Order: sequence, then structure tokens, then C-alpha cells
Amino acid sequence: MEIAVGLAAVAKGFYGRGWLWGTSGNLSAVVQREPLRLAMSPSGVDKGELTAPQVLEIDDHARIVGAHKGKPSDESLLHIRIVKERSAGAVLHTHSIWNTILSDRYAADGGVKIEGYEMLKGLQGVRTHEHTEWLPIIENSQDMPALAETIGKTLNEHKDAHGFLLRSHGLYSWGETLAQAKRHIEILEFLLEAKGRTGV
Ligand SMILES: [Zn+2]
Repeated sequence: MEIAVGLAAVAKGFYGRGWLWGTSGNLSAVVQREPLRLAMSPSGVDKGELTAPQVLEIDDHARIVGAHKGKPSDESLLHIRIVKERSAGAVLHTHSIWNTILSDRYAADGGVKIEGYEMLKGLQGVRTHEHTEWLPIIENSQDMPALAETIGKTLNEHKDAHGFLLRSHGLYSWGETLAQAKRHIEILEFLLEAKGRTGV
């Protein structure tokens, strides 16, 4: 499956940048919409070594479609919710050092405000560095159905957001295509690190 090859390539690249260490993070892309089928990275797999045959296909209840020994990521329900809320074609989730630090540092504000950077123009629909990007921060939880609900509500409240942070956990972003989702993660990771290093 071409989509699985694409997810494995993105995983390898992100792993090399230190955004998916220790089997953390997960990646998905829409295979078909009606009924919804997602290609999804499996749980507990080293993302630097992820291969296309390890990629699972799941339905909109995060159940595996077809015969596969892999286990879907616990966070599959979050991917499904984002795909539905944003009509996304791909959802990517990273656990970088900087997104983890900032997701806690700005938690009391409810989000991270990023403005003035040229790199903001890499986000879909943004034409100028004068754009203000607000990345909402959501409290982390192991209750995935409840967390999916909170994410749905947050995405509705922040219709222009290109991503969000789970507190002390990581970053989610998405795109119409896998290429766009990858670009959004790269841009947001860059911006979070720039903001984190300068402390403003
Ligand atoms: Zn995670």
C-alpha cells in the first residue's frame, strides 16, 4: 500500500529528528472516507524502523480491518476524531523535547501564541509573518474516548488552529494530504523550538 510506504518514510524522518523516540508518537492517513478507513502506525513499534507491512488499517472505531497481528495505537481514537473534525487526509503526532516543554510551560494560558515568524507562512492559508497562530493546550488523559471528546470541542472552538498540544505529552497536527501534514509538523516543531529557546 502506497500510503503505508509514505507513513513509514515520514516516521523514519521524524525519528531521525528526535520527535518519535522510544516508540512514541503515531501517524495515520486516510485510505478511504466512506466507510472511513485509516492507515495507522501500530503500538509499541520503533518508528525509526517502521516498515509498510507493519502499518495497520483501522475503521472508525479503531478496530483492525482484515487480519493483522499488530495492535492499534491507544491514540487511534484521537486520530479518527481529528480526521472527522477537520476533514484531514493525514494526522501526525510527535513527542519532541520542545513540544513537551512548551505544552507544560504555557498550560496555564490554555495555549501557545506564536507570531511574527516567517516560518508561519508554511502553515496552510497563512500569507504573512504577521499571522498569530494559537496552539491550544489540552490536559493529558489516558481516557481516550473522553480525550477525543475534548479534542473535538477544542477544534470547534479554534477553527483556525493547525495543531494542538497535549500537556506534557506532545503535538498533533494534520493536513489535507500526508505531505501537508508533514509540512505542518515540521513548521510547528520549528516554531515551538524557536519560541522555547528564546523564551518569549
Ligand atoms: Zn502520544
